[in-house]
Order: sequence, then structure tokens, then C-alpha cells
Amino acid sequence: MDMAAKFQDQLVFHMTGKRAGDGLAAIDVGTLRPAALAGFRDLTRLRYDYPVVLPESAAGPQFAHSLSAVVGALLAEIAPRGLEGERLRKHVLRLERELRTMLASGATGTLSELWASAVQRVGTDPTVAKVLVQAGKSLKVDGDVVDCDPQLPAQFVTLAWRHVQARKSAEFRALVDSLVRKLSDIRRAAFARSAAGQEPAALAATIGAGHAEVFDFAIMSKLVIRNAPKDELPPTRRRRIEWALDVLRKQPFYRDPAASTAANPPFQFAFDSCAAAVDAYRQRLPRLTQVVKAMSIAELEADGAYAEADHDPFFERYDENALTADDLALFPDYLVCIPAGANDAPENAGLMDMLSAGLPVKVLVQQTDLLEEASIGTGHFAFGVRSARLATTAMGLGGMFVMQATSADLYALRERMLRGLSCRGPALFSIFAGSPAAAGDLPPYLTAAAAKESRAFPAFTYDATGGENWATRFSLETNRNPDTDWAFDAFEYADEAQQRVQEEVAFTYADFVLCDQRYAAHFAVVPRERWNEGMLPVAQWLRLPERPATERIPFLWAVDANDRLHRVIVDARLMQSTRRCLLLWHRLQEHAGIHDSHAERLLAREKAAWEAEKQKALDALRGAAAAAAPAAADAAPAVSVAGTPEGAAPVEAPPSDEAWIETARCPSCNECQTINDKMFAYNENKQAYIKDINAGTYRQLVEAAEVCQVAIIHPGKPRNPNEPGLEELLQRAQPFL
Ligand code: SF4
Repeated sequence: MDMAAKFQDQLVFHMTGKRAGDGLAAIDVGTLRPAALAGFRDLTRLRYDYPVVLPESAAGPQFAHSLSAVVGALLAEIAPRGLEGERLRKHVLRLERELRTMLASGATGTLSELWASAVQRVGTDPTVAKVLVQAGKSLKVDGDVVDCDPQLPAQFVTLAWRHVQARKSAEFRALVDSLVRKLSDIRRAAFARSAAGQEPAALAATIGAGHAEVFDFAIMSKLVIRNAPKDELPPTRRRRIEWALDVLRKQPFYRDPAASTAANPPFQFAFDSCAAAVDAYRQRLPRLTQVVKAMSIAELEADGAYAEADHDPFFERYDENALTADDLALFPDYLVCIPAGANDAPENAGLMDMLSAGLPVKVLVQQTDLLEEASIGTGHFAFGVRSARLATTAMGLGGMFVMQATSADLYALRERMLRGLSCRGPALFSIFAGSPAAAGDLPPYLTAAAAKESRAFPAFTYDATGGENWATRFSLETNRNPDTDWAFDAFEYADEAQQRVQEEVAFTYADFVLCDQRYAAHFAVVPRERWNEGMLPVAQWLRLPERPATERIPFLWAVDANDRLHRVIVDARLMQSTRRCLLLWHRLQEHAGIHDSHAERLLAREKAAWEAEKQKALDALRGAAAAAAPAAADAAPAVSVAGTPEGAAPVEAPPSDEAWIETARCPSCNECQTINDKMFAYNENKQAYIKDINAGTYRQLVEAAEVCQVAIIHPGKPRNPNEPGLEELLQRAQPFL
């Protein structure tokens, strides 16, 4: 089979998704993975954010701790400098790795429990085991140890929410307790001055048992009671104070668990559906209004500022319409953790209404599938938007906090999460924790990280209270290379001649899909002997104009279980999705002020005006020079033409069909020789000329023209009409002809 026919197979697959002939192989489902993930075969060897330790108590500034950070702090405290310390460090780090291994194989428990089990697994030497047990006793943190698995988002968000509510509870209880104290003092003082308060028994209780025998309380009572009023507090005031005290003491929003009874339990605020949270909020609103009213009355009474003529009519009509945002902010926020897979349940259909109504609710929506093929046209996603766009849609509603992230990023974004949970209004956390249906050999952490890296599910936050404009409200958070289309990595491999090759590899949406075995049919493996110049990495293929793109085949670098490198070509349908993913990413970039289309248009306009001005000035200068010295142009060689050694250079610029360099203007940056040092060389003045036009391709000429800092390389017309991608190259060469 000739090369053209082989390439034809690839084109057919790309266009139709059908593998014809024996030149293309199906991908090895479950073992083939994007080349960029080759270095992450064994996560237990890596010290990264996970697992995390989640303490039961929400006290303290931190609600979650990375295991690596906990162990790092432990070693900083107990491992001395020198050999002894190194030995200890080695044993403890070995134990940390064992903990990761245990969790990866399904172990659960608190850090202290797992530490004890891990000591038994690694500490065969009794002395080492003793040291490790001792080290475990010095741990400053304990709590459940949780890996980055599908259960993590709900655990993590719930704990963070409890952390915030604990702070709010302390502030609220301090306020209410102080009001209760002040009202009680008013009542007590009034009682002490009343006739009842001056009875012998009441006086004895006031003085206390320590001095009881010193006084005759019967006589004292007769003396003080003569002028005592019957009751210092007018009945209406007394009733008002008694009512406020009763409401505040029994308020069920933040209760001391010890004071709660089965008959009067405190309210719960964590729910698993939007409908249940909205119902609870509505039912409790009258009670909440009553508590706010009691607090307002208590404050007025405590300040002695309650004026019945003014305040009675106001409080008689006091209802939920009188509540302010400040009032509502005092009370607990509702937490809704929608279970994975329940996004399309009817009880969650009102999510968007609930958020846009501004209810104080924090919602976790867990995304389990970002790929849309199965649901195209069905449109049955309950929130009315596809999973990957839920957060951007909510952001469009405004007035709330929105976070989109993967579970791989939750620990890194914990401060942001606390901010969202602390905000006054609604907050949405749209979290992707891997798709159970994808079921390849990748651990959930890597699947989640791949979703972010590939721009399939970029991390971002939007905080409506963050300022006046997008620059202060929106953040692209932890995405790598936020300025570029794709995140990229340096990638090294050995070619067929066992030579080391290094190149930059972009991690694209198509790479992410490659991790999901359900979409294996969109890929085909090309055997090494059929690799050809018509194949182009996906990221480069996407940059081609439409016509040239139809003549090239996009491919991904992938590795198998033995780390052998493969080229995997991608069908047109998936490339369409990849392009769409890029479009969505560009929109997010614009929100973050990256490649802002308005700014770029303005810049282009200004640049064009500046270029026109410059051209005008240059033309004027040239005209003046030509008039002054018509023969000066014969004076010195100025250019080198392809194949013409310097020194014998022609004076005039050659026809544009021929490649040439304006040698006299070359500032010797060396870029062209980096591309091909046989084609380009320096003359004795260390200025570049084209030494051998046949030593390279037209593509290299065009690339050199593009990198040349002073734009003095003119690629002319291609010499080889069969060179691949000529149409695209001619377009790129146009500005330099
Ligand atoms: S790239 Fe341009 S400036 Fe740099 S050495 Fe080559 S010709 Fe000269």
C-alpha cells in the first residue's frame, strides 16, 4: 500500500469515524491514556494535596488539612537535624505513603486509627514501630482521612459549611445572650424595688447566705417596704419584656445542643433537595421574624429607648416584609447537597428559581458526566442547562457566589469556598468528581484533574459582592496557562532511533475524552510505520483555517500500559466538541480580561492608525532620499538571495518568488539558524543569509520569517509543490513576501 492510500484510511476515519482497512487499530480501552498522564501511574508515590484530614470539630482556623502538610509539620517538630533526623524522616514518609496506599485500596478511618494500622504494616522492626507510634502521638490533627473520591465534595462542603455556621452561631448566641441578660437585669431590678422584692425572703436571697445571720430581714422588710411601689414595671412593659425573653430563650435557630429537648429540638439546616430546603425556609420564616422582632424590642428596652406611642404600632405590623438583609444574615444558611445522580430529580427542578430568589442557601451540585454525546437532543437535564454550563448560567443571573471546580482542586480552593459559604446571599458550588461510567484505570483524582486541565471543566469563581466589575468579581483560579488555549507540558520521549526528543504537548478536551472508555470509538491508533506529515497534533490542527484543516489529520500522543508511545487520531465529531469546548473557554478568558475582544478591537484600530502614520512618514523619507541621492542605491550589497553567497549579493530585492533575506539589516539574533542551520548561515559580518535553500522545507522558511524579530526573511514561493500544508503556509507567508 502506498503512503497516499494509507493516509486516505486516516482521512476516512477522521471524516466518518469508521475504521476501514487494517492500517488503523481500535484503542486499547482502559489502558491507553494521554501521554501527559504517563508520569502519574502511581499516585501513592506523590506528595500532593490528597488525602485530606477532616477533623470532627469545626473549631480552629482550618477545617481541612492535607495529609502531606500534617506530616510535614510533624517532621518539622520532631525530626532533629542530622543523620538521626533523616532516618526518622525516611520512616515517617514511608508510613505516609503506606497511608495513601491503604486509602487507595478502600481503607477508612481517622488519622490516629489509620496511623496505628500503617505502623503495623511498615514497622516490622520493633524499634522503628516504637518510634512511629511515638511520632503518631505528636500529631496535632485528627479526624477522618479522605481521599479524592466521589464522596469527597459532599464531605468537604458540609464540613466547610459547619465551620462557617459555628462562627455565625457563636456571634449570634453572644448577641442573644447579651440581650437576654439585659432584659433579665431590667426585670430583676424592677423586682428588687417592688413590694414582692422587699419581702424578708426576697431580701435574704438578695443578700446571700454568707451574711444571713447578721441581718433581721423581717425588720428590714418593714423599713424598706413603706415607700416601695407595687411593681416598678408597668404591665405592658413587663409583658413585652417577658415575651421577648421567652422568644429569645426558645429560639430554635442556634441552640445549645445541651439545652435542646426532644420536644423542642433545634432546626436542622442541611438538606439533600432544593424543594425540602425551600419548604423549610418558608415554614420557618414566621418564627425567624418573631426572633428578629424580639431582638429589636430587647435592644430598645435595654437602651431605655422604647416609646410605646411610636414603637407599638410599628411592632404590631411587624412581619417578614420588615426583615432586612442584615437581619437575615444573622441566621444559619441552608445547605443543600444534591446527591450525585439526583440533578434531574423533580425535587431539584427549582434550583435556578431558588438561587435567583436570593434565599440564603448554599447548594452543592455534583457533576458526574461532562460529555454530552448521550444526551444530545434529549435536553432532560433538570436545571435546564448542561452540567458544564450550570455555573456560567448561574453567574449570568448575578447576585450570588458561584464556584466551578473539580474535586482535585477543592483543597487548593478551600479559602474561596469558605468565602462563598460565608456570603450573605445564595451560593452555588458546581463540582466535578469524576464519572463512574468512564471507569478506566485512572484514579478519580486524575480524572477530575484532567477535566480541569483540558478546559472541559475549568475552575473559576464569581463573587457578586467582590466589587464593581468583572475584574474584581471573577477569577479563573487555579487553571494552568490561563492566557493560552490549552494547558501545556514539556514532554520527553525516545524516538525509534532511541534519541531523546523533547516537545511541548498541549492537554486538550480530546485528551480528556480519551480517558473515558465510552468514547473509544472516536479514536484510532496509527501504527508507527504509518505516521506521516499529514498528521498534526490536535492543538495545532485547531489553529488551521477550515480548508487546510480538511487535508490534515488531528492526533493525540498517548501511552499504553508499558509506556510505549502511540499516535491516536481523532474523528471529526469529537474535534467539533473540542472546538466548542475551546469557544466556552474563550468566553471565560474574556470574563477574566484575557484576550478581551473589545480591548483587542480597539488595539487593532489604534495599531492600524499608527501603521498608516508610520508608512506615510516612511514614504515621505524615501521620496526625499531618492530625490537627494539617486545613485546611492548602487553603493553596497543589501540583500542575500537563496543560494547566493554573501559578498556577491545583488543590490536590488529579488522577485518575490525567490526566498531572500535583507542581510544588511540582520541584528544576528540567531533564531533562523535555530530552525535550520544548514539553510541559514552568517556571513563574515555575522549577518544571516540563505546558504542552501534546498537544505530545508518551505515550512521552515515560513517559520523563520515568523520568528525573525525584524521581519527581514522573505520566504518567496514554495519550490516543492507536493510539500504538505502548502495552502496554509502560503497564507502565513503572505505578510513576508
Ligand atoms: S532571524 Fe532574522 S534577525 Fe535573526 S539571525 Fe535570522 S535573519 Fe537575522
